[in-house]
Amino acid sequence: MERHILDANYVDIKSSIYKNRIVKKVYDWVVYGNKHKIVCYPTFKCNYDCPYCNVRTRGKMPEKFPEEHSGKEWADMFNRLEPSLIGLSGGELFLEVPGSTWSIREFLENIDRKHIVAITSNLSWDTDKVLPWLTKARSEKRIHITFSFHPSMTNIEPFLEKMKILRKNGIVSTASIVAVPAVFSQLESFKQKFDAAGIRFAVHTFLDPAFKYTQEQKDFLIKFNGTIRDKEDDELSFDFDNEPVPKNCVAGKDYYLFVPNGDAYACQSGFFCVNSPVHEKWRANKSEFHLGNVFDNTFKPRNFTTTNCKYPCSEYCDRAYAKPVAVSEKK
Ligand code: SF4
Ligand code: SF4
Repeated sequence: MERHILDANYVDIKSSIYKNRIVKKVYDWVVYGNKHKIVCYPTFKCNYDCPYCNVRTRGKMPEKFPEEHSGKEWADMFNRLEPSLIGLSGGELFLEVPGSTWSIREFLENIDRKHIVAITSNLSWDTDKVLPWLTKARSEKRIHITFSFHPSMTNIEPFLEKMKILRKNGIVSTASIVAVPAVFSQLESFKQKFDAAGIRFAVHTFLDPAFKYTQEQKDFLIKFNGTIRDKEDDELSFDFDNEPVPKNCVAGKDYYLFVPNGDAYACQSGFFCVNSPVHEKWRANKSEFHLGNVFDNTFKPRNFTTTNCKYPCSEYCDRAYAKPVAVSEKK
């Protein structure tokens, strides 16, 4: 079975290269062929109800964006775009909801190999049912999978067992967790279990307008992830209680975000600042971030760099391309 570079390196290299923007740009060019980066949420529906979720639990996005498009419609649309790195997330992508039009199986059967697809799923599904078609898709397409582990919704043992079954069948994947303080006491033991199984375990910081880590919590988390809200992150205003530093960035030009009804936004933070109650403090006008709709032929990427953006970037915003104005002016 073919393996590609994402299997081995995706998370580790991505973390370390955030330290150096020039190295990251060279890396992106070599690994992704300088592809466009697109985050796509084809569905906001989910069978979990994680307390920290900005999409379902707190953002109420499934109710706000009930319209969906089929897997084939999404794949056909992407196949008309340039080769891209597509970060596919949700909602839960593998959910089979009666009456729902979205299907990840149909999407993977139809997506062109010119794209790299990075999937995130909560792995709540039955591996016996999914394995036959997922194994085939994995052997034919360029896919990387991250399984997000949500301890408030599932136990580690069945989660780990499923990852092992998938790996035995050639589906190498990464596990991830959202590092909210409620999981701190178990983090070390989770890491040991994933390490013992030879599974890469990515600890993602919790970036949220209503939350800030204490210094003690940062010092604890840095053991698991070398990029935890370090100086560079602070400069870019990831700490939501500070006034964001103005940034120049290529969101909307070199990367975008698509949501279930096909609306396109310049970046994830822009989408949240327009639509999420959690981001009320940074409420933005839709016209500031909206790039049209990919299904009614009104989608239009920007042909300019955004200047002086005063909104706080969020987890799917590509930090390497957002530069504080003061820093870019110095260069
Ligand atoms: S699994 Fe993901 S989308 Fe679903 S509730 Fe949890 S964080 Fe939200
Ligand atoms: S600086 Fe951050 S919030 Fe502003 S447009 Fe760029 S990615 Fe979005």
